[in-house]
Amino acid sequence: MARCKFCGKKLDDAGYCTNEKCPESIRAKIMQAAAQEEAAENTTTTGEAK
Ligand SMILES: [Zn+2]
Repeated sequence: MARCKFCGKKLDDAGYCTNEKCPESIRAKIMQAAAQEEAAENTTTTGEAK
């Protein structure tokens, strides 16, 4: 299991830091939210994705 290069905490399955106070974790949350939004968009436009 990989570790965060900022705080040394373990990363979760998605590769994000598990330390809520770590700047990397905060960034990860933003990335995750964006990814989920993107996924939601992709599901609404089914069929022609890639
Ligand atoms: Zn971290």
